[in-house]
Amino acid sequence: MPWIVALLLCLWLFPQPSSAWGRKGHAAIAVLAESQLTPQAQAQVRELLAGDLDRDGKPSARTTLAAIASWPDEIRDIAPAKAFKGWHSRANPVCDAALGACRDGHCVDQLIVAYAAVLRDRSQPLRERNEALKWVVHLVGDLHQPLHSGVSIDGGNVRVVVDGFDARPGTTLHALWDNEIGNLAVAAGPLQAVAIDTGAAAADAPTQWTREARDVARRSVYEPIAGFACGQRLAAPVPLDRAYVRQAVVVAREQMARAGTRLARLLNERLGVAPK
Ligand SMILES: [Zn+2]
Repeated sequence: MPWIVALLLCLWLFPQPSSAWGRKGHAAIAVLAESQLTPQAQAQVRELLAGDLDRDGKPSARTTLAAIASWPDEIRDIAPAKAFKGWHSRANPVCDAALGACRDGHCVDQLIVAYAAVLRDRSQPLRERNEALKWVVHLVGDLHQPLHSGVSIDGGNVRVVVDGFDARPGTTLHALWDNEIGNLAVAAGPLQAVAIDTGAAAADAPTQWTREARDVARRSVYEPIAGFACGQRLAAPVPLDRAYVRQAVVVAREQMARAGTRLARLLNERLGVAPK
């Protein structure tokens, strides 16, 4: 049995809750970012995480970016339903130039901008800056999951089957990318090995990243699907083959590497300067 089929079967038997990239993907992105931090930014991260609390408000003893990278998913799990609705993504239509709505600034790119500002502001209470760090680390990862930045009219929720094998019953295109494809991308090795073009830094960088990820969603998530056309619903379940998954894993690794490198740049910029 080819390794990829074995791994897919294993992941299907032990599914993870839906969240962009899952815990392993977020941790891999954070490990890459941490390896690129300046000594000053590293010292700031240590200070901000020194008294870190878990989702229940108890000391977490977590000291690395990888360890705290899924905290926004953890607090969402115990929050009232819809408390963080829309915070982890932005439903940008893959076939439109215009971005999707961002209600009250609660969408992935705008929240990165807002939390990055808190992170830089040393007059803010330590707890605020600690939580801002945890949001930024997580959301930069989420934004780079293509389906968190770009969807067709199906919202990414169309059911899929790979090679005629039904994944978990009701698995959607979005969940396939979050879990199976994300975990295969991590299993393929450290992200340091992935060559990527991260583009120039810019003041509105997170919004630029979201446009880029939306284009990746169109080019690499939807266009390889036979029968995809702008403005038309795909017939469910959508049959995908192993070649689709293989190519998707390559794209997922590139997106994760972009996320890690950009996260490091952002943290170096916001935390890398000595306090006045
Ligand atoms: Zn998330």
